[in-house]
Amino acid sequence: MRLSSAIPLLRDGAYRSLKRVNLRLSSAITLLRDGAYRSLKRVNLRLSSAIPLLRDGAYRSLKRVNLSLSSAIPLLRDGAYRSLKRVNLSLSSAIPLLRDGAYRSLKRVNLSLSSAIPLLRDGAYRSLKRVNLLPQTYNMINQKDFSSESKKIMDWIEQYFEKLESYPVKSKVAPKEIYNSIPATPPQESETLDAILKDMDEKIIPGITHWQHPNFHAYFPANSSVESMFAEFITAAIGAQCMIWETSPAAAELEERVLEWLRDSMGLPGDWEGTIQDSASSASLVAILTAREVSTNFESNLNGVPNNLRVYCSSQTHSSIEKGVAVSGIGTRNLVKIPVDDQMRLSAKALEKQIEEDLQNGLVPCCVVAAIGTTGTVAVDSLEEIGPLCAKHHIFLHVDAAYAGTALLLPEYRWMIKGIKFADSFVFNAHKWMFTNFDCSAYYVKDASALLKTFEVLPEYLKTKTRGLVNDYRDWGVPLGRRFRALKLWFVIRSFGIKEMQNRLRKHIELNNYFAEAIQSAPNFELVTEPILNFTCFRHVPSGMTEEEEEEEEEEELNTLNATLLEQINLEGKVFLSHTKVNGKYSLRMVIGQTYVERRHVDLALGVLFSAF
Ligand code: PLP
Repeated sequence: MRLSSAIPLLRDGAYRSLKRVNLRLSSAITLLRDGAYRSLKRVNLRLSSAIPLLRDGAYRSLKRVNLSLSSAIPLLRDGAYRSLKRVNLSLSSAIPLLRDGAYRSLKRVNLSLSSAIPLLRDGAYRSLKRVNLLPQTYNMINQKDFSSESKKIMDWIEQYFEKLESYPVKSKVAPKEIYNSIPATPPQESETLDAILKDMDEKIIPGITHWQHPNFHAYFPANSSVESMFAEFITAAIGAQCMIWETSPAAAELEERVLEWLRDSMGLPGDWEGTIQDSASSASLVAILTAREVSTNFESNLNGVPNNLRVYCSSQTHSSIEKGVAVSGIGTRNLVKIPVDDQMRLSAKALEKQIEEDLQNGLVPCCVVAAIGTTGTVAVDSLEEIGPLCAKHHIFLHVDAAYAGTALLLPEYRWMIKGIKFADSFVFNAHKWMFTNFDCSAYYVKDASALLKTFEVLPEYLKTKTRGLVNDYRDWGVPLGRRFRALKLWFVIRSFGIKEMQNRLRKHIELNNYFAEAIQSAPNFELVTEPILNFTCFRHVPSGMTEEEEEEEEEEELNTLNATLLEQINLEGKVFLSHTKVNGKYSLRMVIGQTYVERRHVDLALGVLFSAF
């Protein structure tokens, strides 16, 4: 009840027959003095503003009261509650009171023990007839002393960040070392948070490769930020399962809104709609499944997949596409890897030739996957060349911009999506370069109805009256259950602002230019591909050997040399880089994308490389 507008009614006595009422007392004090509630069986009180009232004794006749004691201590000392039969106490702020013995006359008290143990030792409770103890197991869950326990976690995290740069970037443990350090059976009795955190330091941390370490330059980053981490805490606290609009309207509508923010800030077509998937792999699978349904007139879901559908991507496309084609039932024999040009981009000419050949053979071109930023060398396929081919042959065009998509926040990199109007879907990972914890992949589609038609299954228990009026994101992908991922995007975008995100991205790109210039001017190194964004692909070529002089066996030698040295560097633990092969050349990949990376970290990487090679 909000009593403020109901006071007159209560005075009438119209509620006297009610068994339970939750009161906001602040505006009801007057009413209670009237005695209008004396006949109620149970009342939940917010005492803070009701102390004066209780002193009046107005509640003496109540059978049960839930107290927030913190602001009521003075009142309890008065003994105003002595006549109550049952009280639920949050003890943390009431210990002094209990020592006073003010509760001695109570028959039953529910205790959260963690903060009350000293008190119990005092024997202050000896006179109680019944005390419900929350066992140790529940301390972390039903924690009344949440602030003191959570402080331990916050302190741990703070120290983690402080110590981060002292850890080897890449874990040095041997296979099974961690496994063997964990007991073979679980504990039967509850363990303390302190004991768990101790093992965290001693057993788990040595087996962590530190992705947030500013000297982590391997693969692509999975960078994070304090803002994103805070949102993850809250997401976990709320614990909402956001499968449909009704299971948390805020989650669905925030997702819709923040994806519009990103769409518009990245120069994607204004009428596209987005949803958050757990990973780019899932998003690309969703795209391939949608393409499969569109090209078979939505019959494959019903009848199974014909064995004549064809999917095309470049030889450099991420392995998730191959997996998606396998899982979709199209069959990896029907995935055609198109050769690339000298810049590692899908050759539109070769694609056209392949499509025509397939058509002549009675096959059905179903989907083309273009990459904006391949994993090996961040090559950018030309949508302007590929798009019209797809349009001509009615082929679904999916764009995998998992890593490089974030750079679209910078207007100077929008050239990468020239021709995006031809695309049917697009994915990028905010959990790579956009300061947002794994997992968070933004997936956009031109035609949401094709997506829904592919994924919609409607059991009775999920039918709602709001269907059709709102976005039920369970129909926008494979899993039913969904985390509240939009919250971290919202926190990150609001706290950074688009401008600060742009500043950071540009800073990373500048650091990469600095790194690439240093590599290019070093006598023993060469760039393997043109540096792009915050990415450099390079290798060591010992002095005396130039690119032109290399013979085939020397190429092999060079590959072994680069692989061996990279392994040594990574083992040393100061930096962590990964590799790729470009036209048979074993090459090192340097990515400068950590949220908190500085010039000194890049200098350290250069120092390590120059002294090792
Ligand atoms: N696509 C590209 C181009 C990638 O580089 C990656 C991962 O690095 C993926 C897809 C897969 O991303 P996820 O781990 O989100 O599935």
